[in-house]
Amino acid sequence: MKFEKIEFDSLYINIFKLDEGIYAAIFNQDMGASSNAGFFDLGNITIIFDTLMDPFATEDMIKASKAITNKEPFLLINSHWHLDHILGNRLFPKPMPIMSSQGTFDQFKNNLPERLNAFKERAQEEFKRTEEFLKEEKDPKKIIEYKNDLITYTKVQEPNFYLRPPELILSNSIKISGTKRSVEIINVGNAHSYDDTIAYFPEERICFMGDLLFTNLDPEWANGIGGIQWTVDPVNFKKVLETYLERNIKVLQKILNSVVMHYYVSKTSVAIEGGYPCYQKNFIEKFTIPDFNDDEVATLSKLDKAQDINEYVTIWQVFSSIQILVKFDLIILKHDLYP
Ligand SMILES: [Zn+2]
Repeated sequence: MKFEKIEFDSLYINIFKLDEGIYAAIFNQDMGASSNAGFFDLGNITIIFDTLMDPFATEDMIKASKAITNKEPFLLINSHWHLDHILGNRLFPKPMPIMSSQGTFDQFKNNLPERLNAFKERAQEEFKRTEEFLKEEKDPKKIIEYKNDLITYTKVQEPNFYLRPPELILSNSIKISGTKRSVEIINVGNAHSYDDTIAYFPEERICFMGDLLFTNLDPEWANGIGGIQWTVDPVNFKKVLETYLERNIKVLQKILNSVVMHYYVSKTSVAIEGGYPCYQKNFIEKFTIPDFNDDEVATLSKLDKAQDINEYVTIWQVFSSIQILVKFDLIILKHDLYP
């Protein structure tokens, strides 16, 4: 996947454009580990997916979304109920709705107050600790960060501090269509948390998975962090990951089931009983998949009819015959592609 970093001045987050209208807000790793989020410009509307743990980071993401999409946010989606994804809900204007699954909504009501009280208690200690750090700090960026942290820890302890719950409840899935692109918001059930929600762009093959996906994660974390379970349903967690990985593999499947593969095998393999060609490893080991670019993969993802897929793959090969000769190690493909 090609992505580009967008110029945006923030101490807390970096903004990456993943595809037209699809942006990730990635927390600056220099400031420690935290959550990530994203926003989508669907043409006439902007959707925000998750907020960040640090309120100043969420405020920066809201600013970035407005500056980049030239629109006020239309809707916020919470992937799940954990504080590092919902703490920023309160920073969005009241008329703008927030959507989550029923599981997230229930946890918000039943379990979040306890989590928030623990956070408030911790905020008192963190305030004192941060004050000490601030006295010693010389780095101007760190000084701003610590001062902002003191504001956050003070606000959290205020009696009128509240967490804004979602109002729109997603049962299974919903497709949000804008004038330029659309996104599928899907409740994948209990996995990392209760009724986790993801945002999926089938054509662009981009999925915002909340806390369902990590890179470079110590497998030990699967047992839980600080006494908090890492997954409420490990079996479904695995199934969800496989499902969305397979959607990527579907393009590969289309090529392997196309006329090109059949033609290759008819020339390199032997017929077994009944006249069927043998797909044993030694007959197909030189068949490789070409490096389609992003547009080509997007086109192939959209094609469903066998005839369309065959035509696309075949025409692609005619126009890229030199590449094919190298990549497929198959000179016979140069002529009469339709047997
Ligand atoms: Zn989480």
